Amino acid sequence: MRTIELKAPLDGVTLPLEQVPDPVFSQKMVGDGLSIDPLSQVLVAPCAGTVVNLHRAGHAVTLTTPEGIELMMHIGLDTVNLKGQGFTPKVVEGQTVAAGEALIAFDADYLATHAKSLLTQIVVTNGERVTAYHQVSGRVRAGQDTVMTLDLADQAASTGAIGGQRLVSEALLIPNPTGLHARPAAVLANLAKRWQSRITLQRGDDQANAKSLVSIMGLGIEQGDKVVLVAEGPDAAQAIAALAPEIAAGLGDEGSVPAPAPATTEISADAAPAPRPRSDDPKLLLGVAASPGLAVGKVWRLRREEIQVQETGETPNQERRRLEDAMDMARNQLEALQIELRTQADPAKAAIFAAHQELLSDPDLLDIAESAMAKGKSAAFAWRAAFTTHAERLAGLKNPLLAGRANDLRDVGRRVLAIVTGHPLEEPQAPADSILIAEELNPSDTARLDRTRVLGFATVGGGATSHVAIIARSLDIPAVAGIEPRAMDLADGTPVILDGSKGSLRLDPDPAEINRIRTLKQRMAQRRAADLAAAFTPAMTTDGHRIEVAANIGGLEDAAKSITLGGEGVGLLRSEFLYMDRTSAPTEDEQYAIYTEIAKALDGRPMIIRTLDVGGDKPLAYLPMPREENPFLGIRGVRIGLDRPEILRTQVRAILRAGQGRTLRMMFPMIATMEEVRSVKGLVEEERARLGTVDPVELGIMVEVPAAAILARQFAREVDFFSIGTNDLTQYTLAMDRGHPKLAAKADGMNPAVLRLIAQTVEGAKAEGKWVGVCGGIASDPQAVAILIGLGVSELSVSVPSIPAVKAEVRANSLAACQALAEHALAQDSAAAVRALVPLDY
Ligand code: PEP
Ligand code: MG
Repeated sequence: MRTIELKAPLDGVTLPLEQVPDPVFSQKMVGDGLSIDPLSQVLVAPCAGTVVNLHRAGHAVTLTTPEGIELMMHIGLDTVNLKGQGFTPKVVEGQTVAAGEALIAFDADYLATHAKSLLTQIVVTNGERVTAYHQVSGRVRAGQDTVMTLDLADQAASTGAIGGQRLVSEALLIPNPTGLHARPAAVLANLAKRWQSRITLQRGDDQANAKSLVSIMGLGIEQGDKVVLVAEGPDAAQAIAALAPEIAAGLGDEGSVPAPAPATTEISADAAPAPRPRSDDPKLLLGVAASPGLAVGKVWRLRREEIQVQETGETPNQERRRLEDAMDMARNQLEALQIELRTQADPAKAAIFAAHQELLSDPDLLDIAESAMAKGKSAAFAWRAAFTTHAERLAGLKNPLLAGRANDLRDVGRRVLAIVTGHPLEEPQAPADSILIAEELNPSDTARLDRTRVLGFATVGGGATSHVAIIARSLDIPAVAGIEPRAMDLADGTPVILDGSKGSLRLDPDPAEINRIRTLKQRMAQRRAADLAAAFTPAMTTDGHRIEVAANIGGLEDAAKSITLGGEGVGLLRSEFLYMDRTSAPTEDEQYAIYTEIAKALDGRPMIIRTLDVGGDKPLAYLPMPREENPFLGIRGVRIGLDRPEILRTQVRAILRAGQGRTLRMMFPMIATMEEVRSVKGLVEEERARLGTVDPVELGIMVEVPAAAILARQFAREVDFFSIGTNDLTQYTLAMDRGHPKLAAKADGMNPAVLRLIAQTVEGAKAEGKWVGVCGGIASDPQAVAILIGLGVSELSVSVPSIPAVKAEVRANSLAACQALAEHALAQDSAAAVRALVPLDY
């Protein structure tokens, strides 16, 4: 057996790779090795070898040893972004070096202030020849101490011809802001090695062995470059299906804007649809609740007419001109639609059409159409092929947000197609009292819907996060998405009841049922009108106990709306909304501007800003996280803030600045331990000191982990207030995933176990003179309001539309009755028994 002994490339302290705060290294996506926390400033060769790659940013170098082992040394984390600043290479590519010879000098002070970390990794990127790694731990001296010994297997016999099929992926756009630099290239090489097939990465006429880091880096691939993967061998299909999405998603690089993940035309990527709800009752069809409310009406199916296109065109130039003209006209139509929607004060819908305009400028889409037209296809044929292939690919993705955008692409695609073919877009003419059923509804259709005739809709496609669902909610129209496909077989005119809250469609209800629902709707409408009329009356119980009713908001629009509905402030600003749908985190100034704007809209009313609550189940594209077995129990909420303090620090500064002279409070999500509270408090104080003369703001925590409720008294000594997040508190108390379709109905915050934790939280807080609010879903639940008041909660932060109803509910009760009710509720043995104590009066 052969071994290679590697000397330390730096003075420093070694660290297992697993502890490097970067998943690409810690999960050994690049390869195995170790990390060194440096105490010197010159990286030296750990053994003799040849410099096969020196990154142009000077932060990474790869040596090949005489045994053919590739060693990559990567100084610091995210240092590629420094674009060479702070690094002085001492070698050139192709140079032979002896052990201990200087490779790169670096300025540790500069890196310490400009990079995420100085940790330097030494990693074997062609580890298939290494049978064992023996790492040394502790302090090491550059060029003197051994840091790692590698046991090598005998040189593998040449694989020769490997047979199997040859497949080519579709074009992939490189999303990595700094191209395929050392790290993503190494990730790709390592992933590619899992497959037996020969895999090549091609850009135009240049090609590289995708299993070789050096070969990949040799291509010098930049952001936006178009590449294809070619795989030849017995597992070619699996290799391309696995690798193509990884390349499109940035190979774990921060800041990559994921491009749609393609596959070859022969292969469909693993895109098994999510299991749909299915009913055993022939008269009941199930789907996903997309927009709440009940509607009684008759089925009206929307069948989209196929637009006929001719395959062959005139000259490519004529066809190209035809497509360009159609696209210009589509842009004008979209512009006009946006102006119209803005004048109707509907910026959310206008934004959807702005996104459509953006889709029209997608260079890839045009490229595909262009190449088809160059081969003699008509503009219509080429365009249809381009947008439908793209849309199908998006629809097949597991990411529901991206999958939802497929519908937008089809919508804008049809708009252009209709113009090119001179086929007018059909205006759906609904009969009165329609429940519209469609395979898919495009945002354009929903924007044009005649609200006086269409009472609700159900679509076979789509989900709760699709734009159609968003539009339905903004129109306040009940909707069900993902309905069972047999809905499309229903005859027009079939009487139905659509329940947008439960996500169901009941067929042929008997007249008594229809009457009951109609009466119910009338009563609900009357009650809503009465609640709305009294929305500005304070929420005071009949015996004079005041409850503050605030709003849960995601941004400025919600804040403004909450005021019009009698909201008394903001009890929860879910600040994560400001971080989503972006390619990088908002800056301190951007956040300061938006917090200030919201505070101004609230006109002196108080506001609680919850710090970024993402992670695990709610990923951000620019904040790559290692895949977790149990995301709800992983790096989530405040744990992200403490794991990536630079993000939290920026937000904390913005909140502190916006809070000056205002009643603005800061709240931390997912607190489970006292150490977390003390760490965030310390961090806030440090940032306050950094800002200079800035007054403190009140600090609170979300109580959404049972540990925080159980130790409420201790936590109350540390903070100014609590807000109970019953959505998560219920999930963690009952050990039921809050998004699980089969458990959703059972994960009820009215379970007496959850109510007991609320009672315990209030007791602990009161003993220390602190107040408690509830911002989870049950605060907006009319059956829960009286119980929460009885348990001693003093603030309810609720969804914006439910503000008037919650205030009315408070005014309908006395504190004494609420307390008796709460006592009773705590003694029950199930959520159903608790709910039975507070029957809905309809
Ligand atoms: C909660 O968990 O109850 C809560 C309000 O937070 P979110 O729903 O945003 O997790
Ligand atoms: Mg929560």
